[in-house]
Amino acid sequence: MDNSRRNFLRNAGLFSLGTLASSAVGNEGLNKLDQLGKLAAIDGGKYTLPVLPYAYNALEPFIDKQTMEIHHTKHHQAYVDNLNKALESYTGKDLESPHSFENIFKVVSKLPAAIRNNAGGHYNHSLFWSLMKANPEGYKSIPEGKSAELINKTFGSFEAFQKQFTDAALKRFGSGWAWAYLESGVLKIGSTANQDNPLMNNAEIQGKPVLALDVWEHAYYLKYQNKRADYINNWWNVVNWNKVNDLLA
Ligand code: MN
Repeated sequence: MDNSRRNFLRNAGLFSLGTLASSAVGNEGLNKLDQLGKLAAIDGGKYTLPVLPYAYNALEPFIDKQTMEIHHTKHHQAYVDNLNKALESYTGKDLESPHSFENIFKVVSKLPAAIRNNAGGHYNHSLFWSLMKANPEGYKSIPEGKSAELINKTFGSFEAFQKQFTDAALKRFGSGWAWAYLESGVLKIGSTANQDNPLMNNAEIQGKPVLALDVWEHAYYLKYQNKRADYINNWWNVVNWNKVNDLLA
């Protein structure tokens, strides 16, 4: 891969340390992944951990360096490794090639839990990293452009949207994710358990994710202990609204 291609991928929040061309996945698979949000790095038929588009300490003071480092290098890496293992050992007939997120999620109800949980974990975390950006000065982070328009039209105000999303994140019992997503072009808010997401064929909510928040304790426990509400309130400072706009486009 030449440097301009590598830089393009880096800027797009999508990169692999090796080549992106993959015999097992092929261009069609990559294009499909692209449609799902320019996320997955697949190298030689294996999923790989995406490089973060910022340093581990970049989201401080809102999300601390140690949490980010462990979350990315331990938790996310484990989803990637376990997804590769689960796909290698899969012998069923329901999953089509390439083993893209799109193909996995559309038949996920028929697949082993290890594929569901780890494909969800890899997709959700890749999306989550891309939906945050540094804001060391703590400027009020508010949507602009497409996201602002759609939020105001649908929820009346950003504050109303923020409150509903925060409630969804707070009320998810145990481990899971809060989402804003498009269902038939309508912007909605909801949550899912474990590593489920709205792209999964039998998830509690259905649609295309445009904003994601990890509310597993591993996402906040080191800094916030049991105070999920404080974590959520601080997370709003580092939301990357440009990425939300890209996903809405
Ligand atoms: Mn997580």
